[in-house]
Amino acid sequence: MFTHAGSHITGHGTPAEAVELVDVDTPNPDPNEVRIRVEAVALNHLDVFARMGHPEDDGTFPKRSGCDIAGFVDSVGDDVDDDWIDEAVIVYPGVSCDDCEYCLNGEHTMCHEYEIIGEDRPGALPNTLSSQRGVLRRNQNR
Ligand SMILES: [Zn+2]
Repeated sequence: MFTHAGSHITGHGTPAEAVELVDVDTPNPDPNEVRIRVEAVALNHLDVFARMGHPEDDGTFPKRSGCDIAGFVDSVGDDVDDDWIDEAVIVYPGVSCDDCEYCLNGEHTMCHEYEIIGEDRPGALPNTLSSQRGVLRRNQNR
């Protein structure tokens, strides 16, 4: 397993109190996922919510910021077509099961398994992310 530099939010507080630089395992994609070589991550107010807390915060730590992601697919899981490799992509940060009644009706945010990258799932800061294929969009602006 390879590692790369990352950062964790370890609890609620100021950046000096709650952000820690760490080595993060470089993920291998699960069968329905791709791994992205991240080129850009925007800061989002969600990053502040994750660090400062909010009413729906589940209180689990560490969290890893970075939900708005653009990059290139560098590895695919066994169930993903190889033609995604080297594709420029942007990532929609909401992840759902794609299989329940809500998802099949296009109401992904109502899914009981709905999670947000950067809060419920590890974000992309600083440079690598494993993400489900269902949240990727080909980047037409490269
Ligand atoms: Zn669902």
